[in-house]
Amino acid sequence: MRKYVIIGAVGSGKSTHSELLARDLDIVHISVGDIFRWHVKNHTKLGAQVRRTMAAGELVGDDLAESVVRDRLTQHDWNYGFVVDGFPRSRRQTEFFLESYDIDGVIHLDLPDEEVRRRVLARRLCNGCGMDYNLIADRPTQEGRCDVCGGELVSREDDTEQALAERLREYHERTDPILELFGRKEYVVTIDARPGIEEVQRTLRERLGLPLP
Ligand code: AMP
Repeated sequence: MRKYVIIGAVGSGKSTHSELLARDLDIVHISVGDIFRWHVKNHTKLGAQVRRTMAAGELVGDDLAESVVRDRLTQHDWNYGFVVDGFPRSRRQTEFFLESYDIDGVIHLDLPDEEVRRRVLARRLCNGCGMDYNLIADRPTQEGRCDVCGGELVSREDDTEQALAERLREYHERTDPILELFGRKEYVVTIDARPGIEEVQRTLRERLGLPLP
C-alpha cells in the first residue's frame, strides 16, 4: 500500500504526475478540486455552496474540504493506495490528515510564480469531453477546437489573471506552513517542477524509491 500527498502551486503538474503514478502503481488519484468541479458542473447542493468561492480563486471552508476527502476515502476502492492532490491546503486540514491517515511521502512540486503564471494562462479545457490542452506545450490541431470531440476549448473559470494572483497569494500563505508541518513528521520530497514531464516523473520516482517509468 502506497499513500502519497502531492503539493504544488496551480500549474505545477500535480494532476499530471498524480495520474502517471496512479496509472503505473495501480493506486487511486484523488483530486479534491476535480471533486468540487464535478459538483459545480452537475449543479449539486455542494456545487452551489462552493461555486462562487472557487470562481474567485479562494479556498472553500475546511469543514467542506475535509468531509469531501473523508467521504472519498471511505469508498475503499484504493487497495494499493492513493495519491491525494489538492489536499491538505491549510494547517487544520493537515492536522486532520495526519491524525486520520498514515502517509508514505509528501511530494512537493516546486515552481516559481512567474512560471506558474506562464503555464496557467495558457491552459484550455474542452467543454465537451474535458480534455486538457496547453497553448505552450500541447496545442490543439485546429485553434479553439478539441482534437478528440471537436468541442469548444475554454479557460477554466478560475484561470484568470485576477483569480490566479489570489490563488498564488493563498497558496504561499497557507501552504508554506503545511510543508513545515509535514516536514517535521513525514517525508517531504521537494522536486524542481520546471523540467519536462518525463524528467520530473523520473526524479520523483528516484527520490521516492519507486520503479522507474
Ligand atoms: P484545484 O483544482 O486543486 O486548483 O482546486 C480548485 C479550487 O477548489 C480551489 O481554488 C478551491 O476553491 C477548491 N479547493 C480544492 N481543494 C481544496 C482544499 N483542500 N481546501 C479548500 N478548497 C479547496
